[in-house]
This record gives sequence, C-alpha cells and structure tokens, in this order.
Amino acid sequence: MRVILLGPPGAGKGTQSKKLAKRTGQLHISTGDLLRENVSLGSELGQQAKGYMDKGALVPDELVIKMIAERIAQDDAKSGFILDGFPRTIKQAESLDKLLQEHSLKINYVIYLDTSEGIIIQRLSGRLVCSQCQGNFHAKNMPPKQEMICDYCGGSLYQRSDDNPQTISKRLDVYKDDSSPLIRYYDAQGILKRIDADRDAEPVLEEIVLLLKK
Ligand code: ADP
Ligand code: ZN
Repeated sequence: MRVILLGPPGAGKGTQSKKLAKRTGQLHISTGDLLRENVSLGSELGQQAKGYMDKGALVPDELVIKMIAERIAQDDAKSGFILDGFPRTIKQAESLDKLLQEHSLKINYVIYLDTSEGIIIQRLSGRLVCSQCQGNFHAKNMPPKQEMICDYCGGSLYQRSDDNPQTISKRLDVYKDDSSPLIRYYDAQGILKRIDADRDAEPVLEEIVLLLKK
C-alpha cells in the first residue's frame, strides 16, 4: 500500500507516520528527515538544500523530486511506503503520479491531518527531535522519560533550528500558498481522507489504522 500523510507543519505527519510504520511494518519515507541527513553529512544535495530549510522555504522541486525518485526505486520500497512531507507542491504531486504510473502503480490513500493554527504553533515551539533515530517528542505534550534523552534509542534530543517563531510563521505561509492546494488535487482523485488532528497522537493513530483497513 502507498499512503501519503498531508497536512501543515506541526500536524503530526512525522509522529503519525513513524508510529504507523512501526504498527504496519511499512516503509516510512520523510523528505524532511532525508534532507536533514544530507545537510548533516554535508552532501552536495545537503549544501544546496540548507539555505532554503533554514529560511523555512521549500527546497526546489527538481532537487526533492530527484531525491524521492531515487528513494522509491530502492528494493525496500517495492511493496509500498508511507510518504511524510512529500509531495508539498502540485508539481511534486504530478511528478509522483507520473513516476508511479510508469510502473502501473498508484497512491491508495492520502490522509489529510487537519489541524488548527493555534495547535500548530504550540506543537512546533515545544518539539524535540532525536539526533539519532529522528523520534519526535514534545516538551509538554509528549515529554521523554528522561530529560532530553530519547525513549526509543537513548540518543540526545534537540530543538530543530527551523522551529523558531519567525521560521514557523514563514513555513505556515508556504504551506497555505504551495501545499494546501494538494487537498483539492487529491480530493478530485477520490483518495483523500480527512482526519481531525487537533487531538492527541493516540486517537489520531487509531483512526488512521481503522481507515487503512477499509
Ligand atoms: P515540517 O513538516 O514540520 O515543516 P519537514 O521535516 O517535513 O518539517 O520539512 C522541513 C523542511 O525541509 C521544509 O521547511 C523544507 O525546507 C524542506 N522540505 C521537506 N520536504 C520538502 C518537499 N517535499 N519539498 C520542498 N522542501 C521540502
Ligand atoms: Zn532516538
């Protein structure tokens, strides 16, 4: 099964897709995680992407599309995947459709994590990420058992440099302009499923799991 998690920054795409991947054994692909990995390795892609990410802008379509094309061509993606943070523009969505069509494949579901702005800001400003396994925590809502230490792998937690008020507000603008049109794009294909993602992570996950069983 091929699934996309769609929604604004802070909707819980990362949290939900990681939990979902663990539950169903599907492969989780996050363009944000892949890009941050490239930045920390200092690869050519990372060097090209860093400036955009620091500003809260989108990395150019052609770079991200090439990265995702290479990733989904790998063996472990053959039986399906959960996409997190991609597509983020209509151009990316069209490229993905084309890429899949070439192999007679398609996206089965797009889960739209509908989230209100107050919740988004509150989640992003308290978000903590594991430097080793990319696990997500929140200083108040989902605190780690030990301060600044990952529950899953013992790695150290950090606050993402783009999770500051100024960059958060820029990312929300970019989402409204460039990414929110995807809701209509996938609704028109008849595969969009809306979920109220203002709630805690657990009930949201259960609803996604139920929905995918249908
Ligand atoms: P969030 O959803 O919280 O904004 P992500 O980790 O998904 O966080 O993305 C972080 C940054 O990485 C984005 O602000 C953007 O610069 C870049 N990025 C991630 N995915 C894409 C994409 N599909 N297209 C363009 N840029 C992307
Ligand atoms: Zn970890």
